[in-house]
Amino acid sequence: SIASKVPSVLYKSASFLRLSSTLAFIETSPEGKVLQSSLSALNAANQLGNPISALVVGSNANAASEELRNKIKCGNLNKIIVAKNAAYDNFLPEMLTPLCTELLRSDQYSHFIVSSSSVGKNVLPRIGALLDYQPICDITKIVDANTFVRPIYAGNALATVKCPQDKKLISIRSSSFPSIEEGANEAEIVDAPLMESSSLGTQWEGASLVKNERPDLGSATRIVSGGRGLKNKETFERLVTPLADSLHAAIGATRAAVDAGFCDNSLQIGQTGKVVAPDLYIAIGISGAIQHLAGMKDSKTIVAINNDPEAPIFQVADFGLVGDLNEIVPELTQKITK
Ligand code: FAD
Repeated sequence: SIASKVPSVLYKSASFLRLSSTLAFIETSPEGKVLQSSLSALNAANQLGNPISALVVGSNANAASEELRNKIKCGNLNKIIVAKNAAYDNFLPEMLTPLCTELLRSDQYSHFIVSSSSVGKNVLPRIGALLDYQPICDITKIVDANTFVRPIYAGNALATVKCPQDKKLISIRSSSFPSIEEGANEAEIVDAPLMESSSLGTQWEGASLVKNERPDLGSATRIVSGGRGLKNKETFERLVTPLADSLHAAIGATRAAVDAGFCDNSLQIGQTGKVVAPDLYIAIGISGAIQHLAGMKDSKTIVAINNDPEAPIFQVADFGLVGDLNEIVPELTQKITK
């Protein structure tokens, strides 16, 4: 409607004057603790160099906003938008999308950033559809405010994409962006707009979570991962668990190991599992299929234990131990424990 009343040249130049700023969606634990993946999303937002508004939602949004202001060093974070409302607990996309869309309709936001978690994957396409913008998913690098790198073909190629849209809706691969530094900032805390409550017929029924004392697989700095070469659940537990214990590491697995029932499917790493990039990744009895490599090849140091010297895992490994895992793994565990 403004465009129809204002001469087109003026209208265009006015749109250039729009402020560039980034809205970052922050995921939290049920207790309101900011998730590691969202600290990576903030780091990505910071790299854009624009002022950042962080959106926190749910019953414990106040705790999250305090943590964001007092525990992270982020000069660009100038606003924390708090939607303290139990309706946003559990991050139902039907509830979150109208709120994010309402905020993003404002001209001030040039970028929206969320981590490529199940919440991000649920919300981003809905926002894209409602605002008519193409989302840019799972980016691993920011080249400039319009240009991003994202893996394609299960990580076998990297595409550099340039986005001419005036709003960029982005999800980030959190393993590619380190967590933002600890410290404090001067962000102003404001209330989110009140939205009409409508869950579009969706209702939260409950969550059945696997309890795990180990470091979270997605953010662990060390991972010991087992494959089909371990032959059965008993060997997986007898060999992988003590080695992981000795290194205070998370446990991962291939899809073949998960499908064979050696461990829970929440441990699967790869194209259809989790994407990780720890400092140390120990692959035991894993051949190195491309679908598995898609989830771990960015690990800083890869150690492979396999009795087949031709196994493809050795092509990405920094250290390779060719031999029987039944002998190598107990010896390694014993030496590390000592
Ligand atoms: P195998 O390929 O069977 O390898 C076992 C290895 O153990 C062999 O290299 C063998 O030499 C070694 N070995 C055997 N005995 C010993 C011993 N005694 N000592 C030492 N080494 C030994 N896979 C994933 O992991 N993650 C995914 O997300 C995933 N997504 C997929 C998506 C699609 C669409 C498809 C088609 C496949 C996907 N896969 C995925 C499956 C993938 O293609 C492989 O089948 C799988 O990764 C193989 O797992 P593995 O390495 O444990 O088993």
